[in-house]
Order: sequence, then structure tokens, then C-alpha cells
Amino acid sequence: CGQSARHVRQTFLRYFRDKQRHREVRSAPVIPRGDPSLLLVNAGMNQFKPILLGTVDPRSPMAQYQRVVNSQKCVRAGGKHNDLEDVGRDLYHHTFFEMLGNWSFGDYFKEEACRMAWELLTEVYGIPQDRLYVTFFGGDPALGLTADEETKEIWLSIGVRPHHLLPFGLTHNFWEMGEMGPCGPCTEIHYDHGVGEGAAAQVNTGNPQLVEIWNLVFMQYSREADGSLQSLPQRSVDTGMGLERLVAVLQGKESNYDTDLFTPILDAIQRGTKAPPYRGLVGDMDPNMVDRAYRVLADHIRALTVCIADGLYPGMTGAALVLRRILRRAVRFSAEVLRAPPGFLAGLVPTVIEILGDAYPELKQDPCQIMDTINENEAAFLSSLHRGRRIIDRTLQKMDNSQSFPVDVAWSLHRNLGFPLDLISLMLEEKAVNVDTEALRQLAKEEAERLRPSPQSELQQGRVLGIQDINELQRTGVLRTDDSAKHIYTL
Ligand code: ATP
Ligand code: MG
Ligand code: MG
Ligand code: MG
Repeated sequence: CGQSARHVRQTFLRYFRDKQRHREVRSAPVIPRGDPSLLLVNAGMNQFKPILLGTVDPRSPMAQYQRVVNSQKCVRAGGKHNDLEDVGRDLYHHTFFEMLGNWSFGDYFKEEACRMAWELLTEVYGIPQDRLYVTFFGGDPALGLTADEETKEIWLSIGVRPHHLLPFGLTHNFWEMGEMGPCGPCTEIHYDHGVGEGAAAQVNTGNPQLVEIWNLVFMQYSREADGSLQSLPQRSVDTGMGLERLVAVLQGKESNYDTDLFTPILDAIQRGTKAPPYRGLVGDMDPNMVDRAYRVLADHIRALTVCIADGLYPGMTGAALVLRRILRRAVRFSAEVLRAPPGFLAGLVPTVIEILGDAYPELKQDPCQIMDTINENEAAFLSSLHRGRRIIDRTLQKMDNSQSFPVDVAWSLHRNLGFPLDLISLMLEEKAVNVDTEALRQLAKEEAERLRPSPQSELQQGRVLGIQDINELQRTGVLRTDDSAKHIYTL
């Protein structure tokens, strides 16, 4: 069935709003507010964290929320949830994606959450049940957490067949927002694009035909700074479904990039670069990485547009550094693989706004500012990129095949020319040359230690703080928390 992305998004919101009496809440900006433990918004639940933890200001409108539905702009390119390395290599991880979610804050719990999800997928969207596989938390004896038999029984009573119902451990079925914060066991729904027999054994193995689409988290705990799990004052439901993956399912595509969320961008890339048409090839089938470059660009330009529209500027620390890394990767694939002229990247912004602007009107406010930011930063990196490429090529000529790339040269590309480390590894990998990434990481760590500003100035610069820093700032009274709201930080 060919349902447009716009229709799929609307159907989700309408189902929970009109049929299940949820309040529709706008997407929060991707720059988190008042949460020094988070780099960029990585899930729909971020803005509701105080409600989940029971620390919401009673005067805030949020204090009234019981059932909520939303479509949240998310970025996973740094911090605990970081998918940057997968983007472009596979067909279903993005740096920026939309997360559809419904919440119950102390209202309904497991049974209703599962029933609603199943009804929406199988009856409203019309997905055949035999394509769906469901996982639940199988327990973790070491942590004293038992298996979630209750959820298993609920799914069986809904009609999920036993061999479509699978237990998994902490990694897959215990969701945590970050190093600390709300968490709990979850149950996930996966879609089989065409494995058929034997699909159950492939769930959560990375088989690209078996894609996780929806995660239903039963928020029962808070992970504290000392690593312990504390029970939350109320039990809540937090769900998240990737719109791009759902749309792929509903448009009968195995790749998110073959849906109407991406095809106009891929078309614009072809028109602007005169590269061979996009064929959707991955891995060894795509030896010149043209298709991967298409995907990286289509993905990264969405992330750049959304982040810049929310007020982020590429920079040297925290979220700004994440954005800079995304931008430099985009410039590199654009200039070197697709041989696009300078300014080409920014020219894709209007296409992104056309696709996403109705759902997120803030994108339409100042397209020129978004394009200018991309152009300025592209220009700043391009000459370094060309110099770096020459250095890499000259070094490779001097090496024999068995050698690995000299760490000092790689380090100087990073230190002096501003190459992100992951970009260096990627450019060398393409030449089938190794570099000691561990040594590079160590150098980067030492340098970060050397340059490390005080936690207080890091906080002011909007950097994400580690737990130790948060504790230190609390000890010294810079960050204050009060007992009734121990997760609300005030400067
Ligand atoms: P995966 O195992 O595929 O990396 P995840 O378990 O990390 O996904 P969750 O944290 O459970 O993802 O997020 C909820 C949903 O958001 C996922 O089921 C998926 O549909 C979607 N999602 C997560 N990460 C991405 C991403 N990088 N790009 C697109 N959609 C994503
Ligand atoms: Mg993931
Ligand atoms: Mg997963
Ligand atoms: Mg998941």
C-alpha cells in the first residue's frame, strides 16, 4: 500500500489523539534544554523526562499530562546513542530521524500499550501479522531483574504466535536514555521484509531485512549517578517508532531511502552533480561508494537543516562539534565522491524543507540562514580537505602494501587540518589501509585532558557533562538541585 509519509505521520497522531484520547504535543527543539547529561535530543521521551522522574514543576502545564502523543525530531550522532558510523552503510539508520511516540504518565500500562500498538499496526496501517516479530525482556539475574513474563502473556493473549515472540537481555530489551535517567524493560516490534522461514532466529542480528520498528518502554526505574536502579514514583509507558522505517514498510520498500522522505533529495543530488543515478547498492556491490555518498548526503543534509534551524552552529564542543562532524562528512562525500561544486550542498536545503516543513514549520522560518551557515562552513573546510587529500595520497605512495598508515600523519590531519577522526579512518578504509585507531583515540583523549576547561565553563559552553563533573558541580554548589526535584538542575 502506497501511503505517503505525511499521511503515515498524520495517521499515527490522529489514532492516539482522536481514538485513544492523547494530547498532541509539538516536537521539542533538537537542542536539549536544562539537561547537562544529554548532547542532542535522541528520543521522544527527552522532553518528558521530568514527568517520568516525578520531578516536574507542579505549575508547569506538563504536570497535567497523562496521555501524550508526538512526533519528535531526533539526532543520534554522538553520546550514548550514536549511529553516525552506520549512516550510509545501511539503509535504516539516520543521523536525524523522526520518532513517533505515545506516552502514558501514570495512566495505562503494559496491556493497553501493547493493544494500541498492535491495533494501529495491523488494523489501521494494515501490516500483515505474520510479518511482525515481538521481543520482550528476558531478565538479567546479575542485576536481580526477572523476565517480563507479564508482557509475554499479554502478547500471547493479543494473538501473537509463540514462535514470533522472543526474549532478549539488557542490550536490546532494557532501554536507557543515557548514563543516568529513566529506564526500564521494553518490548519491541520488528518487521520482516522478506526473510520468511527462519526469520525469528534473525531478529536483532543486524539482518537488514528484519528491521526493528517500534519500541515500547515500561518506565519503572531511574539509573542514578552511582549506577544503581531506583524505582520511579509512578509507572509510565514511553514508546518510540522510527517514521522512516514505518514508511518504508508501508510503501513496500526495503530501504528508507526509497521512500518519499528521501527520493526527492536523491533526485536533487543527481540533477546537481550529474553522478550516475542512485541504484541503492550497499557494501561490495557499491565499489566506488557512489550510492553510499548519495545516502550520506541525503541523510546529513536533513540533519544539518533541522539542527541549524533549531539554532545550532557547527563548533568545537558538545552538540556543535557533532554538527561540525556531520557537515565535514557531507562536504567530503559531496566534493570527493560525487564531485559536486561548492555551494551544492546548501542547494539541497529547499528540498528538505519541502519534505519536512509542514510537520516542522520552524524549518521554513529562515532558509537563507541555514544555507549561509552550510556554505560558510563548507568553504572553511574545503581547502583543508584538498590539502589533506594530497597528504594522504603522498603518504600512501611512500608506503608498501603491508604497512599501516603512520599515526603521526593521521594525527596532524586531525590536529592541523580539522579532519574528524572518523573521517580519516573512513578515507583510509576506502584505500584498504589500516590506521591504529586506538592510538589516535588515545592521543585525542590526552589532548582533551590537556585542554580540558573546568566543568563550569564546559557547562556554560553547552557541553555534555559526565557524571563526575555533575557531581563535582553539585558539591561546589554551581549546580543546585533540591530534594523534591533531584534531577532539575539550576545554575
Ligand atoms: P536499532 O537497534 O535499529 O539501532 P534502537 O534499538 O537503537 O534501534 P530505540 O532506541 O529503541 O532504537 O528507538 C526507537 C525506534 O526509533 C527504533 O525502533 C527505530 O524505529 C527508531 N530508530 C532508532 N535509531 C534510529 C536511527 N538512527 N535512524 C532511524 N530510526 C531510528
Ligand atoms: Mg540503535
Ligand atoms: Mg535495537
Ligand atoms: Mg530499540
